[in-house]
Amino acid sequence: MKTKPSILLIYTGGTIGMIRDSETGSLRVFDFKNLLDKIPELQQLKCDVKSISFIKPIDSSNMNPNHWIQIAEIIESHYNIFDGFVILHGSDTMSYTSSALSFMLENLAKPVIFTGSQLPIGDLRTDAKENLITAVELASLYKDGKPVITEVCLYFEYKLYRANRTTKINAENFEAFASSNYPELAESGVHLKINYPYLWKSNVTDPLKVHKTLNTNIALIKLFPGITEVFLKTMLNTPQLKGVILETFGAGNCMTESWFINLLKETILNGIHIINITQCIAGKVNMGQYETSSQLKEIGVISGKDMTTESAICKLMHLLSAEISHESFKTMYEMSLRGELL
Ligand code: ASP
Repeated sequence: MKTKPSILLIYTGGTIGMIRDSETGSLRVFDFKNLLDKIPELQQLKCDVKSISFIKPIDSSNMNPNHWIQIAEIIESHYNIFDGFVILHGSDTMSYTSSALSFMLENLAKPVIFTGSQLPIGDLRTDAKENLITAVELASLYKDGKPVITEVCLYFEYKLYRANRTTKINAENFEAFASSNYPELAESGVHLKINYPYLWKSNVTDPLKVHKTLNTNIALIKLFPGITEVFLKTMLNTPQLKGVILETFGAGNCMTESWFINLLKETILNGIHIINITQCIAGKVNMGQYETSSQLKEIGVISGKDMTTESAICKLMHLLSAEISHESFKTMYEMSLRGELL
């Protein structure tokens, strides 16, 4: 590292850089250069900040895996030049993008911090400035010549989270994210309090490896009382389907009716992976704890343990594109790759 850490700010879009249309009152994206003009405070930090922007910044509801690859490529091509990366992103799908990036960036040894805001940076009561300034500060933290953070994180409203543990839980409050199954990595108050024991320990000697293929032939199915056979059958018979995330009740429980179990069994025998994750905000899947989940275990349903839906989806897209045998898929899915599950 040079005397001052150098941070690359990657602007992808989102509220943080939007302005309010005076006629319609709706928010639209605007030129990133203006965004930097609005935060002269960045010059006061003990780091050098450079920025790069998507040619066409987007509302994060328009994000898709091609954009994830675009972000990964920007990081890859600047990896050796910069000491840390801060990604400005809309909050709506920030947990998806940041979870995906956590899987795509193997052997990461530098900080990658996502942030955004609920109010545009130009608004009087904006949360954007604090989020951005502290995210940059966290990305610049060094201890004994090494970066303190060596994983993909999400910073919002005074808290730093492991990105693949987060979910957007509030469309209104400044505290928009939660990480129910993993403690915060840092908290910003008068001082920056780092939760060292919970940080990802990186001992990587291998170079950064960027995985740029994601298989989107997947489905997310949330169970509900009364779900019909015809609906489920139609979903599971989707052409090209390779994997399904099944959001179940409580600790991974489902109905035990034979049409349901037989349908899942048939799907698995057809080579489609089914992953069980819970609809609950916190806690984990424990197949076999109740009779209503024992059969799932027997037919080969994979446990998503305490993963978030966002993380489960991205991990599925990532692993489906890796060259691993059908048998090792379950083992790989059920183990922690980037701290996304216990
Ligand atoms: N709709 C916006 C987006 O996700 C919301 C935000 O930035 O917070 O891009």
